[in-house]
Amino acid sequence: MIAGVRLIIIGRQGAGKGTQCLRLSRHYVVPHISTGEMLRASVREGTELGRMAKQVIESGQLVGDDIMVGLVRDRLAQDDARNRGYILDGFPRTVNQAEALDEITESAPINVVIDLDVPRDLVVARISARRVCRDCGTNYTVTGRERRPWTCDVCGGDVVQRDDDSEDAVNRRLDLYESQTAPLLEFYGSAGRLVIVDGTASPDVVFGRLTAAIDAARNPG
Ligand code: AMP
Repeated sequence: MIAGVRLIIIGRQGAGKGTQCLRLSRHYVVPHISTGEMLRASVREGTELGRMAKQVIESGQLVGDDIMVGLVRDRLAQDDARNRGYILDGFPRTVNQAEALDEITESAPINVVIDLDVPRDLVVARISARRVCRDCGTNYTVTGRERRPWTCDVCGGDVVQRDDDSEDAVNRRLDLYESQTAPLLEFYGSAGRLVIVDGTASPDVVFGRLTAAIDAARNPG
């Protein structure tokens, strides 16, 4: 087996990226780097970045490219990412960020870019049922059978709806995805660097499709 992988997963918010990335990070033993989770952590810690990011996130906008590129540059320079690789989730979100990432990774290029493809109407339904642990970020889906108050199976934290999962903010984020992030498909696709994976099946089936796509890209032929 080739050690590690350097992977980007693109896709609409609510396509199941977060859950799949966590599982993939265990499978390939590489860190899962979620820029949304990094920003939410700084909101929880009350840092200067967190105070700025809170407003942007809640209004469903994007944090500025310079800030995001700086965050990712620092994170990818850490030992775990340099030695084993990483799964980037939520970055790049604009063509500017993708161009900056190509520069950052020039000496150790990304192995695979995956578009986890789920149509818009399906993700709206999924996001409105999404809940997340306030402390460790584990994702859950409402089934109607949860105990109240709902606590996290992993760490015992409160399980809540993300402030940016309100219907208005979700629709704004999806509009933003079409205008800002969808051009990435062309950016990577035209360079022959993109693998599209159908994300509409059960989580286990989608996980199988993802690992098949990643293994094929790591071991061509
Ligand atoms: P996510 O958890 O990936 O859905 O991210 C939550 C929010 O964090 C997004 O709606 C943006 O406001 C912000 N964010 C996360 N990643 C980025 C990024 N690469 N560029 C700009 N904003 C981001």
